[in-house]
Amino acid sequence: AKENGRNDFQLYTADFEYQAIHKLTLHHELLEGLQKREFILHYQPQYDLASGRIVGFEALVRWRHPIRGLVPPGEFIPAAEESGIIVPLGEWVLREACRQNKEWQDAGMPPLPMSVNLSVRQFSRRDLIEKIAEALRETKLDPKYLKLEITESMTMDVQRALSLLKELKELGVDISIDDFGTGYSSFNYLRHFPIGSLKIDRSFVWDIADNPSNAAIVASIIAMAHNLELQVIAEGVETIEQVRLLREHGCDEMQGYYGSPPLPGSGIEELLGQEGG
Ligand code: C2E
Ligand code: CA
Ligand code: CA
Ligand code: CA
Repeated sequence: AKENGRNDFQLYTADFEYQAIHKLTLHHELLEGLQKREFILHYQPQYDLASGRIVGFEALVRWRHPIRGLVPPGEFIPAAEESGIIVPLGEWVLREACRQNKEWQDAGMPPLPMSVNLSVRQFSRRDLIEKIAEALRETKLDPKYLKLEITESMTMDVQRALSLLKELKELGVDISIDDFGTGYSSFNYLRHFPIGSLKIDRSFVWDIADNPSNAAIVASIIAMAHNLELQVIAEGVETIEQVRLLREHGCDEMQGYYGSPPLPGSGIEELLGQEGG
């Protein structure tokens, strides 16, 4: 509607209005979905590259929409961020991930850390630490089994990030920098931040087998992380070639379809049952 002729303006306006209405509807639906408990978590296993064993999970939210079916987060997280609904949604995710992890431990599954994504909005709220402490207390999960994934953009305000991360560390919660390499980070801050690991973004990993410059980037991220005594996990690992290269470079862990896609809780229980014997 935007390319041709004189009626551009009107068409564009109509388009714009349509988008605005669509957006409002989505915001409203998200809120309703939260009240109706339409959100669920899937869990993607993380593997130790040397042993091949499962060493953790990442909780990933999905929306079980009554009409649209299972909606992936890429289709609603941006709207949830924009509307602010990410805050109560993120709190639900945090609590549900802790609850599930504790339930697995109580059932005798090997205790493993669960990673939870934090959004910018959550990270900038004053009650963040309180909410995390509350989720841990109420689910009785030992804080060492919770890991929070933040992105480089959340560390732009270095002073604030530093004090928040210190508080999280005091709580006993581990922190990982997600999508590493895609944001601007001053490598300098990494030395000062009390974080445990870096997650190399999928965009560097997917073609390491035939893109020498991405292979070089991945190799240097791993070397730098190890110099700083950080663990490194590669995301989006899909092929055996990628696994071999990552092993060669000494990467610690991997997450991706090669190991397993994100699964509902029952799928994880089956997987760990098989692994156990
Ligand atoms: P992310 O944190 O980078 O999560 C990894 C994404 O990569 C997931 O997509 C996962 O399903 C996908 N993935 C895993 N292995 C592979 C692979 O081998 N190949 C490919 N092509 N993709 C793989 P998903 O579940 O659609 O989530 C997308 C993004 O939505 C996440 O990216 C994260 O930024 C956001 N997200 C998901 N759950 C939450 C949440 O609870 N809170 C917040 N704030 N964001 C979330
Ligand atoms: Ca993540
Ligand atoms: Ca990621
Ligand atoms: Ca990513």
